[in-house]
Amino acid sequence: MEERQEPVRMCVVCRRRFAKSRLLRHVSASEGVGNGLEADEAQTRPGRGWYVCDDPNCRARFEGMKFRRKSHKGRKNG
Ligand SMILES: [Zn+2]
Repeated sequence: MEERQEPVRMCVVCRRRFAKSRLLRHVSASEGVGNGLEADEAQTRPGRGWYVCDDPNCRARFEGMKFRRKSHKGRKNG
């Protein structure tokens, strides 16, 4: 059996699936850092990972997304 498929992960922005090596992994950052996540380029850090593909639009949108542990309050309409 020659099934050495690379693991696939979903981009959290566009929700398309990519081989893990094409995605940039992020993990929870210290409180107050960036958007709540920081890049884990070596992909070795523990905890849940968030993956973003290499599409510049996804990278830009990801930067603007907020990742907080607190549940959100005051949702806008919609
Ligand atoms: Zn994407």
